[in-house]
Amino acid sequence: MSLNKLKEQVYNRANGLCEYCKSPANISTQSFVIEHIIPKSKEGKTSLENLALSCQGCNNYKYNKISGIDSILNKKVNLFHPRQQAWNNNFAWSDDGLEIIGINAIGRVTIDTLKLNRTELKNLRKLLTEVGKHPPK
Ligand SMILES: [Zn+2]
Repeated sequence: MSLNKLKEQVYNRANGLCEYCKSPANISTQSFVIEHIIPKSKEGKTSLENLALSCQGCNNYKYNKISGIDSILNKKVNLFHPRQQAWNNNFAWSDDGLEIIGINAIGRVTIDTLKLNRTELKNLRKLLTEVGKHPPK
């Protein structure tokens, strides 16, 4: 499969949303990236099962990490894996929709590591809420 075809499939599979913070690519000022869930430096493959759509912010914070230290369990926990886990099983929206809440250790450590409640994301969620486009379905 060509790289462009692969990128198109990853984008469509994610419905154009960052697979971590769920922000929409079509209203971002920065191009989204196709990221390796398991980084290439850790033998991750460039195949659909290891690729995810990510905004620049999440991708920068994720870098080559695959785990983090959970503040409650005080132990190393793997980051959310968008191909092997469902977002809704690890995260939930706060009542006002502005923050992502980790409902388990994977959710918590991913929020901490990727900073999924960055100020600019909360501002964006607030604006999208006002026009009825947040939280995403
Ligand atoms: Zn993101």
